[in-house]
Amino acid sequence: MRRRHLVLGLLGGAAMTTTGISTLSKLLQETSSTDRMPILFVGHGSPMNAIDNNSFTKTLNKLGDRLPTPNAILVVSAHWMTQGTWVTQMDNPKTIHDFYGFPKALFDIQYPAPGSREVAELVKSTVNTTKISGDENEWGLDHGTWAVLRHIYPKANIPVLQLSLDMTQGADYHFRLGQQLRKLRDKGVLILASGNLVHNLRAIRWEANAKSYDWAMECDEWMKSQLLQRNYEALVNDFHKTEAGRLSIPSLDHYFPLHYILGASISEEPMNFEYEEIQNGSISMRSLSFGLT
Ligand code: ZN
Repeated sequence: MRRRHLVLGLLGGAAMTTTGISTLSKLLQETSSTDRMPILFVGHGSPMNAIDNNSFTKTLNKLGDRLPTPNAILVVSAHWMTQGTWVTQMDNPKTIHDFYGFPKALFDIQYPAPGSREVAELVKSTVNTTKISGDENEWGLDHGTWAVLRHIYPKANIPVLQLSLDMTQGADYHFRLGQQLRKLRDKGVLILASGNLVHNLRAIRWEANAKSYDWAMECDEWMKSQLLQRNYEALVNDFHKTEAGRLSIPSLDHYFPLHYILGASISEEPMNFEYEEIQNGSISMRSLSFGLT
């Protein structure tokens, strides 16, 4: 877990420019419900998906054609683990290559989307159940964000912010925070959660067409069933009650992003599984949307 030592006193309204205020004003105008942004959970899998051309990346390409153009994108990535909850609050978030032992082509990738200090202020002011701190220079966009977004929004011309995962908290905290963030959907902010429902790196199989573990398929099917029933309570509380669940979720970082999407969802809107696959034997690529027709 990363320990944070940022100086919070440097943040605040003084940094807001005239342009920023007008942008924020525009965002704060409630749009009609027909303009409500959909929300997504994407199972990102191996960093190689950033440069591969496979059925998963083709699905992301098509998602980009179906999705509206948001004012900004708020990404909850499995790869930004902190104490406390943070949001990137910077004009030009750097592309972070947070992996080792992969081809140079992956390290050469840049995703030069702008950030938005104003939208960061909006995120902070939207949540009143917990404090969200602004990160002005430490993080940026990790591969949980850019490996997905480069397939959905390849132009990298929409402001992107990341929200961190407070790893001192349980799934219920992340679900409740997602409920608070729901309001952002009516302000043109697309919430994207990036993780994996089943994610066991120790058991990973790198060979082509690797056979999926029985426990990975069992847990993925259990989650699919709970999602179809919208039984979020089970997804928050019961995921470690079976051997399959414990093997599939050996650490919580790739599972927690789901709860933001569940919290931000609305009961009567459609939910769709956009993609289903077990990659590398032990990684569920299951991806889903709410409010996308
Ligand atoms: Zn990951």
